Amino acid sequence: MEYPDETPDSGVVLLRNIARCDKEGCGDVIESTTTHDFATCGCGSLSVDGGLSYRRRAFNGPWTELSEWKMPDGSTVGGPDE
Ligand SMILES: [Zn+2]
Repeated sequence: MEYPDETPDSGVVLLRNIARCDKEGCGDVIESTTTHDFATCGCGSLSVDGGLSYRRRAFNGPWTELSEWKMPDGSTVGGPDE
């Protein structure tokens, strides 16, 4: 998917900070809920950080962005169900 413009003036709001590890045998979906909540998947190859302040990823393998944003028009894009 294409990620929305997250610059402060865009009106786009990060609702959930989520990513999925796509390394074989893992597949964990991890979420960072607070600024200093550093979450790591079971195999250790993907970490997400930043909560709703910023999306930080550290990875050593394939992964998929599953974050959800609220757009200026009120609609939501992304999210773990897509
Ligand atoms: Zn993993």
